[in-house]
Amino acid sequence: MRPAFITILVALALHVPSAAQGPAWTASLAGIRATAALIPGPRPLRLNVVKFAESRRTKNFSVQGAPAEPSVQARTAFQVAYAGGTVMVDAGMPLEVHRFFGRGVEEPYDAAAARLVDEAVARARLIVLTHEHGDHVAGVVTGPDAARAAARTLLTRDQVRVLLAAPQMPEIRLTPDLVSQYRVVDYDLYMPVAPGIALIKAAGHTPGSQMVYVALESGQEYLLVGDATWHMDGVRQVKGKDAPWVTEDREAVLAQLAWLNGLSTTEPRLLIVASHDEEQRLDLIRRKLLGDRFE
Ligand SMILES: [Zn+2]
Repeated sequence: MRPAFITILVALALHVPSAAQGPAWTASLAGIRATAALIPGPRPLRLNVVKFAESRRTKNFSVQGAPAEPSVQARTAFQVAYAGGTVMVDAGMPLEVHRFFGRGVEEPYDAAAARLVDEAVARARLIVLTHEHGDHVAGVVTGPDAARAAARTLLTRDQVRVLLAAPQMPEIRLTPDLVSQYRVVDYDLYMPVAPGIALIKAAGHTPGSQMVYVALESGQEYLLVGDATWHMDGVRQVKGKDAPWVTEDREAVLAQLAWLNGLSTTEPRLLIVASHDEEQRLDLIRRKLLGDRFE
């Protein structure tokens, strides 16, 4: 073989993508903790959750291979409580958006609890969103209170892109005019937003999905993973959803579930919390790791 030909072969070999390219998604808890420590000030004291609606589905949709047994999906919003104010993670939704999810089937909607979410959003100093689906964003995108909340709501560029071009339902579509009322940000891996709180970019369930890390003054840590899984069995078994109506990046979601599964064994101080896992919600409230009312 002529030397020049060998050189070309070597060059080609060097450019062949390696089989060991790494996972479709990963993150570093050390980097996340360091990010959450960037903004000075006292850390939050408590994390609270309120359930404002339910979806009644069978478990096989939430966790691939699970039995088709009844499984309640709680629709929830979270409140991070500081001594001097609150930060909301997700913003609830009005009844008309809830009806969209029922697809003609009447599912439970707790109007009084939904009002508590609206009031908590109205009081919050800052609102961040795990992703751009209606059950998480509608409270700050549609309805009479949305305009007042917009200036305190942090949307990511990816969330805005979807809400402009391909919203999950017509009620949550944004227009360029409306977008200018929000605080729109973009970031690469992690972003600090308040003392003890960091956002973690986690496209997968949706393009604008992110996880929210919260470290309390007490040292208790939480990772609010939104809809990376609908039930914590998805993390325990590293199994994705099996719901035909869900369009997500399966590979990225599975990589996230694998990462979370690893953390669940190595990080006893860190609680991984899924937005819709009703069994987990009740358990954490009972163990006083989540408050069951907003402040
Ligand atoms: Zn959801």
